[in-house]
Amino acid sequence: SPPPGQPFNPDDDQFDEALRPKHLEQVIGQAKVVERIQVMLDATRKRGDTLGHLLLDGPPGIGKTTLATVIPRELGVELQIAAGPALSAPKDLLPYLTNASPGSVLFIDEIHRLPAAVEEFLYPAMEDFRIDIALGDGLNARTINMQLKPFTVIGATTRAGMLTAPMRDRFVYREHLDFYEVEDLVEIIRRNAVKLRTTITDTAAFEIARRSQGTPRKANNLLLRTRDVATLRDDKGEITTEVAAEALEMLEIDTFGLERQDRRYLETLMDIFGGGPAGLQAIAHSMSVPPDTLEDDIEPFLLRSGLIQRTPRGRVATDAAYRHVGRTPPRTPGN
Ligand code: ATP
Repeated sequence: SPPPGQPFNPDDDQFDEALRPKHLEQVIGQAKVVERIQVMLDATRKRGDTLGHLLLDGPPGIGKTTLATVIPRELGVELQIAAGPALSAPKDLLPYLTNASPGSVLFIDEIHRLPAAVEEFLYPAMEDFRIDIALGDGLNARTINMQLKPFTVIGATTRAGMLTAPMRDRFVYREHLDFYEVEDLVEIIRRNAVKLRTTITDTAAFEIARRSQGTPRKANNLLLRTRDVATLRDDKGEITTEVAAEALEMLEIDTFGLERQDRRYLETLMDIFGGGPAGLQAIAHSMSVPPDTLEDDIEPFLLRSGLIQRTPRGRVATDAAYRHVGRTPPRTPGN
């Protein structure tokens, strides 16, 4: 934890780093996944080997980057971080591959966004730690073969379904991170309050946790926002239930944990598309929001809460969604 009086800027990456677990034992929740990762790490160490490639998938803010930084720290190896969308050609990937030290980890975030040419360049690197570099063209064209140090790719994706089959097959280990239980989020909030030198009551921690959409990043953000209100309202700066309620109200987060944008999605689906089925593109267009944002950031929680359903013909608002926004569900044939 930071020395007393050290200023933080919440917009800093450094700030996020301050709350991020450093070691596997500090990773809260996801017990089964953590247990399997512990086995991978122990076996790798015992064999004196390089960890097999690992694919992590799950919604945003759920701990993929956290695990990808914890693993190399546990193994005592180097870490390089690359972002899928920034790797537009094989040459962008080349420095990461040639710089990879023995046993090190290359974390590729949003790996489903790699262009086909980059993916194909990565296959032999992952499989045989070798790359083929094409030089010249026409009659002078030749390929040189370069040997790499053994290394580990940790890929993260919010869309396992968008990964090509050959890419997916290159990963020995595949782990899915799901939404967190409320109790786990309570624990994350309590530990992070300590790191932030703020006190929070048990009921306030619970209130924040149950409105965080099962997502640690949202829980952390809510903790920061309630802490602001606490600083202004309470002499000791303690986060009480009253303070938490005021902050949640100010942020327009409802009892389900839905934010304004989530409710707008439901209302758009009901008002413009009669509750659906409606295509993702059409909903996105009506809301003036990119379809990817809806699919990655908004829909996963609505789906898992049973507020929407995905059907072959499009998205449908459920009766629970109508009731949640205070409307009467329409009578549909067969109901
Ligand atoms: P994205 O897909 O947007 O990259 P992510 O899944 O990689 O998101 P992280 O950046 O790892 O999510 O997590 C966001 C923050 O939530 C972390 O900085 C950390 O503070 C907290 N966090 C995530 N998982 C855990 C956990 N299991 N225990 C404690 N804190 C966690």
